[in-house]
Amino acid sequence: MYQLIDGKTTSAKIKEEIAEEVKQLIEAGGKKPHLAAVLVGHDGASETYVASKERACKFVGFNSTLVRLEDTVSEEELLQRVNELNKNEDVDGIIVQLPLPSHINEQKIIEAILPQKDVDGFHPVNVGRMVIGLPAFVSATPAGIIELLKRYNIESSGKSCAVIGRSNIVGKPMSILLSQKADFGNATVTLCHSRTPDLKEITEKADIIVAALGKAEFLTGDMVKQGAVVIDVGITRVKSDKTKSGWKLLGDVKFDEVAPKCSYITPVPGGVGPMTIVSLLKNTLLASRKEIFQ
Ligand code: NAP
Repeated sequence: MYQLIDGKTTSAKIKEEIAEEVKQLIEAGGKKPHLAAVLVGHDGASETYVASKERACKFVGFNSTLVRLEDTVSEEELLQRVNELNKNEDVDGIIVQLPLPSHINEQKIIEAILPQKDVDGFHPVNVGRMVIGLPAFVSATPAGIIELLKRYNIESSGKSCAVIGRSNIVGKPMSILLSQKADFGNATVTLCHSRTPDLKEITEKADIIVAALGKAEFLTGDMVKQGAVVIDVGITRVKSDKTKSGWKLLGDVKFDEVAPKCSYITPVPGGVGPMTIVSLLKNTLLASRKEIFQ
């Protein structure tokens, strides 16, 4: 029988822990950690993400600032706003919600954020530091997955892992974190992508599978070995006549087929998703302590 990895409960617990740390910080005379989010345009999903980040900040006792800009904003104006936040000494962490309108160069904006305030962990300085094992802000989704594995006492050392998807924000950092020589890591990782031939041959041998490709129910029962740990990162919104909203979320894993073969598996929703915001909060707390870049 498989065990469900409950990201919702785990993230709620971590939020309580962060709230307690903030309380102690303030009692000791420190200032509230402060996260600033920049939202360009009115994309529905981005609005939802930013609103939940603001709610989470409020819950743990952080200050949060939302800088709203129209989608007609110029790249120059956006860079200027980021720069203002860089200079604002009260702001500890900055996130610019992606995607940005096509006339804006995302990479340029990411690189404009001070690495010391880059709590999304997307700046090349943070990516580079993470790769060579230095303290760094780590991209929130892979950091959340590592935290989930640790909290469920799932060992990665010596294991064989398949990561499906090589994006800069999920798959690639995930493969590095799992394989790094550190307290947690030491796995042998195969990083798979759309040009990987015979993917099944790789996944069916893997002890841990991280599915992060964004293709609903891609990973089927026949691709997974008995006792595997399966982490489902995918979120695909599909129409449904069974829900009030008229849509539902599907992961990259065909849950009903895969779960019976697993030792542990994350659900969608309620698995990896809630951990992503918690990792962002943790990074902001770290940024406020100024411990990463000393
Ligand atoms: P992405 O940038 O679209 O990257 C997808 C990756 O999957 C690419 O590397 C692509 O390969 C690979 N891929 C696509 N089709 C494949 C196939 N048939 N076989 C093997 N590999 C394939 O995606 P992302 O930003 O990493 O996000 C992935 C999923 O996770 C999405 O559903 C997204 O919504 C979700 N997500 C969830 C959270 C969360 O908090 N739960 C956070 C971030 C993302 P190529 O490189 O060869 O194109």
